[in-house]
Amino acid sequence: MKVIKIGGGCLKDGQAANTIIELIATRGKGDIFVLSAFYGVTDILVSGIEKALESETQIPLVLNSLRTLHNHIIKVLIQNDTLKKQLSRHLSDVYKRLERYYYGINFTREATPRMQDMIATFGERISAVILSKALVAKGLDSSFVLPEDLGIISDGKFMDASALMGKTRKNLAAWMDLHMGPEKILFVPGFYGVSENGDITTFGRGGSDYSAAVVAAAVSASVLEIWKDTQGFMTADPDNIPHCKLIPELTYEEAAELAYTGAGILHPRTVEPVKKAGIPIAIKNTYNPDAPGSLITRNAVTPPTIVKSVSYTIDVAVLKIHASGVGARYGILSQLTERLAAAGINIKSVVTSQTCISLLLSRKDVEKGYQSIQDIKPSPFRKSDVITDVALVSIVGEGLHSNQGIAAKCFTAVSNANVNIEMISFGTSTAALYFLVQERSLDRTLQALHAIFFDG
Ligand code: ASP
Ligand code: MG
Repeated sequence: MKVIKIGGGCLKDGQAANTIIELIATRGKGDIFVLSAFYGVTDILVSGIEKALESETQIPLVLNSLRTLHNHIIKVLIQNDTLKKQLSRHLSDVYKRLERYYYGINFTREATPRMQDMIATFGERISAVILSKALVAKGLDSSFVLPEDLGIISDGKFMDASALMGKTRKNLAAWMDLHMGPEKILFVPGFYGVSENGDITTFGRGGSDYSAAVVAAAVSASVLEIWKDTQGFMTADPDNIPHCKLIPELTYEEAAELAYTGAGILHPRTVEPVKKAGIPIAIKNTYNPDAPGSLITRNAVTPPTIVKSVSYTIDVAVLKIHASGVGARYGILSQLTERLAAAGINIKSVVTSQTCISLLLSRKDVEKGYQSIQDIKPSPFRKSDVITDVALVSIVGEGLHSNQGIAAKCFTAVSNANVNIEMISFGTSTAALYFLVQERSLDRTLQALHAIFFDG
């Protein structure tokens, strides 16, 4: 049995969804499909929360835009009148529930994390119903089941939950035994699970990749396929390096590193559950479904040049804390990280020296992070500042560390391109080397690195 994740990027409109339905109809029998919301829907749902807080007159507008978007898609996918009526009855209940949540928020003037998470899941609740009905309209045996009914159990952390695999595995095994069969095409909304107390909790934005990995691991799928509107993992971002190439095989570590540094192909946490279970991940292009794509396995081959990709993110900023004897004083780091955690700020990475601690944060968080540490008493540091005009570049390849000369080759190329390296992190991962450059030098850096590792 396969588990297949279909992303919102492949569900842009009725036409795109129709292509997907055709693909599922010909290749999806006996498989489980974990879905994203239709393109843009989660954003509408989330921004609807703000609007509902502002004024109740906004609520019907939000619901209308959701109805219109989905109705356009349904019109293309389903012609059968009886099915259309069934679907519209079902959806009208779903919209009513959603509407009640928005009015609740408006009435109480409060959007609790519980409520925000509940609302955010409606895109997936809707896309799963629509696609399964579209297959029924084609005469196929298809149905959907919600994560709360299937028993995808989460740890209960709102907006950033993780699955409890033991319990989830047991529930899914029992459910599949009763309901799954070789002809069945099953849809499961991605993006969320349910806690043991019954709370609906999302796995974070973009989290339906992770959902699919959880389901794949729980049912011991033969493969986790991720259907996307792109080829797969590439040796660089095609926007920067148009002649970059597809990476046919990657290890789990390589894929995880590339997911973290912005390749945007996979949600960073997707690898966790399937890696433990040894289930391969295949990235498939829905516009060219027979193309090989990228395959992620435990034993992916390593090219003689070791490096597989040059990646980067500009969603990075540095919070610098200057203090003497950092490496000889205890407690400084925990004081700082406690403040940041209390402010809800994620730390991407930490680099320290004897005189300075550098915390790598998301750009959107850095100002708030700076403010959050100013009033620690007594102040454990002399001064702090913020650097935002940087980019984090990484080269990724399993074995970077055990092969002589790769770091030298990387930094020589960067230096020959006249780029100054601001900070380096090497040795923390077996599959990646990270460094910071000025954002204005980013393009030159990427060109130089791609040339040295891939165009030689
Ligand atoms: N629909 C959710 C989001 O946009 C989850 C996902 O698509 O992966 O974040
Ligand atoms: Mg996604």
